[in-house]
Amino acid sequence: MSGPEAPHVIRRIFQPNDDSCSFASHRFYYGRIIDPADDTVLDEVLVVYMRAPKTYTREDVVEIHCHGSFLVLRTILELILSFSVLLAQPGEFTKRAFLNGRIDLTKAEAVIDILSARTRKGVEMAMDQLSGSLYHRIETVRQTLVEMRAVVEVAIDFPDEDVEIVDHGHLLEHLNTQVELPLKQLVAEADQGKIFREGISVVIAGLPNVGKSSLLNCLLQEERALVTDIPGTTRDTIEEYIDIFGMPVRIVDTAGIREHAEEVEQMGISRAKEQMSRADLVCFLVDTTRGFTEEDLVLYQSIGSTPVILVENKVDLAELPEEDIPAEIGKSVPRVKISAKHQQGLDELRTAIFNLVVGGQGQFKEEGCAPNIRHKDALVRALAACRRAKEGLISRQTSDLIAVDLQDCLDQLGDIIGITTTEDILDVIFERFCLGK
Ligand code: GDP
Repeated sequence: MSGPEAPHVIRRIFQPNDDSCSFASHRFYYGRIIDPADDTVLDEVLVVYMRAPKTYTREDVVEIHCHGSFLVLRTILELILSFSVLLAQPGEFTKRAFLNGRIDLTKAEAVIDILSARTRKGVEMAMDQLSGSLYHRIETVRQTLVEMRAVVEVAIDFPDEDVEIVDHGHLLEHLNTQVELPLKQLVAEADQGKIFREGISVVIAGLPNVGKSSLLNCLLQEERALVTDIPGTTRDTIEEYIDIFGMPVRIVDTAGIREHAEEVEQMGISRAKEQMSRADLVCFLVDTTRGFTEEDLVLYQSIGSTPVILVENKVDLAELPEEDIPAEIGKSVPRVKISAKHQQGLDELRTAIFNLVVGGQGQFKEEGCAPNIRHKDALVRALAACRRAKEGLISRQTSDLIAVDLQDCLDQLGDIIGITTTEDILDVIFERFCLGK
């Protein structure tokens, strides 16, 4: 419970074991939750009262640590709600922490990312953001802009001395190195962040019996991600995530095609085609004992523009004859030799997947603070404003025009950390929480 009424409510429903319980702040007290209507004992609990402002929300907070039974939780929750306490909206505790000034918006969003992370790397990145990495980088640029705007505004007040006050060359240099460059770096990191936050989807494709299920099974056994099996509405959309060097990878399950033999002829290819075109990457399996056949080529040609890795399976039995592989594929497509049955070559496959996805994003950086799509949008707008300010300086526009662009850039950055963010944008952000927290 958070808010000024919380301590009053707990006093009415908590019977401490020790009569001298004084509800000192940040101390655990042992006792029972009692329904005051009929004195029924609902559970044995630990209660902690945390006095504002040193709390998650900066308000008075009371926590009840009860047994983890759904029924007990529910009964205690219903009792609390009967005291005109309102149920927290999704993300409400974090929203209050933000509105009460304890955390900025990037940290609030980091909490969402921690709750929804699919890999350890995802959690690490979110923890980094929660510790303020993104906030500090934005704030550093903002401070530079505030100082620059101050200089320019002095010139607005003394238009006759404009030229003397504003050192255009100096400002331009500052905009280049301390605004544009760091903002560009953040945009680049956002693209990388998207991969680790949302993951990618990989289709394992190939003719019947090339070893698709075998490969899927050994990848799933070895590298199942923290969160797996997110059931969709139909069997077709069951999602399995594996963790490839911290990147959540959704393996698209094509098993359905195999299960209905008659469908293979009619729909197999068209369904595989659709799945392949929607995927971020296709692992195209061929059976080395059969070679790269005409049928392989037909299926291969239906992949479309999705990036491909040619996976030569069953190398424990045979090598794929080099002359079998069509020249345009042999030259342009990464190739990995594996044996799904004997679990050989899987590391090479994982590396190839990782390199194809992350390598395509330019230099992979281990460090970085992975701005999300909302941050990226604002960063791009901030960059546009920065460029307008630069052009203004170069073409010797008047200071008031330059000040407008600097202010626009500041506003965009303010949006990221939540200084200027409007209520409806906040609603959209906090609705992403799936829990009260
Ligand atoms: P799918 O139809 O593409 O899903 O193929 P499966 O995974 O069901 O494999 C077809 C057959 O090939 C099975 O009998 C597997 O045991 C066998 N198989 C799969 N991978 C390998 C491999 O790397 N080496 C050998 N020797 N057999 C394999």
